[in-house]
Amino acid sequence: MNPCTGLCRPLPRLSATPPDFIALPSYGLGVFSLHVCRELNTYMTTGYMYHESFGWHDTGSFVGDMPSDITIGLQPYHNWEHVDTKRRIHELIVVSGLINHLKRIEPRDATEEELRLVHTQRHIDFIKSQSELRHGGDAGDWTTPFGKGGYGIFIKSVGGILEMVDAVFRGEIKNGYALSRPPGHHARPDQGMGYCVFNHGSIAVKYAQKTYGVKRVLVVDWDVHWGNGTQEVFFEDNSVVTISIHQDRLYPKVGGMVDEVGSGTNINVPLSAGGGNEAYLKTIDDVVIPAIERFKPEIIFVASGFDSCVFDPLGRMAVTAKGYREMTRKLMQAADTYCEGRLVMHHEGGYSAHYSPICGQAVLQELSGVFLLDDPFDEANGYPNQKLNPINAAEILESQKLLKNLPT
Ligand SMILES: [Zn+2]
Repeated sequence: MNPCTGLCRPLPRLSATPPDFIALPSYGLGVFSLHVCRELNTYMTTGYMYHESFGWHDTGSFVGDMPSDITIGLQPYHNWEHVDTKRRIHELIVVSGLINHLKRIEPRDATEEELRLVHTQRHIDFIKSQSELRHGGDAGDWTTPFGKGGYGIFIKSVGGILEMVDAVFRGEIKNGYALSRPPGHHARPDQGMGYCVFNHGSIAVKYAQKTYGVKRVLVVDWDVHWGNGTQEVFFEDNSVVTISIHQDRLYPKVGGMVDEVGSGTNINVPLSAGGGNEAYLKTIDDVVIPAIERFKPEIIFVASGFDSCVFDPLGRMAVTAKGYREMTRKLMQAADTYCEGRLVMHHEGGYSAHYSPICGQAVLQELSGVFLLDDPFDEANGYPNQKLNPINAAEILESQKLLKNLPT
């Protein structure tokens, strides 16, 4: 038996019962000590979805989000939205052995009918036609490039999340993480944008409503960018609460403000740059959890972007793996209380090839209760800006005032 490292903790359902400490065989390279600390009856209840074809989504010869252009000194390199930031998450999950404690969800191709739950036929046809071009195309804003055949990858990524939803409602898993690619939360019904082609999270919400008769859904978006597409899809739909926690006016630069409430169920939490774990955890405690308590959703979705992390090249927030882990734990506790633990996370952004894998591993460890790795970069937990600053505190308070709009 491996000794308890202190990383583990009783899960919400444990109540007064001491947790079981069990030792399991090593997997992967065998270099990580495995420590499982949770009730046996909740073991192997976390789903995980990824497909190698997601790595073949070709975002072209870019320099960040600019097409390379040697005449102005933009040396050919790669897009921020690069495979390494996703593939390395998957590789760590496999090599650490965590994969052996997750239920692998095989993706399927989403149908056009499913895409139409959110998107116009015009947009679907446009993506299909761009996908057939010799050198691929763009999803609609000239910063969302993809290679020939990209459509096949996109529908598999969407379909993988739908399979995750099926597994949750069939009771095969309690929660899950879909390492989908490309991201989706910026995609509008009639246009792709910001690396997003189809709004996979919104499609999954509508799919859950249509297939399983779900009446109330809550979406939390912790990607550093404003979830504009998701907001647009559900802006006048009070069956879905959408909460976007984002860096104020990072992208898209116009919008994402606190006065955009729609039918009363849209809550934006625009945070000034610089905030870290305490700002995010206070948002979860003071906005998200009370929203869950008031609205009582039947399932919670998380648009999970690791570009809020401290080492992200695009975001200027400072969440660490510890912060993501604690946010996950709080959402799991709320899901346990209000919706039988149903919690589906799908991947959005996150552009640090170094740190995104650590964050992904941390979230999946928390979801599954299997703890294998600490954060090698945990010195970032001691950065001064991890403390809540008064500007962020005031911003969170403004968003908190919107809770009164939510239906009960
Ligand atoms: Zn993002």
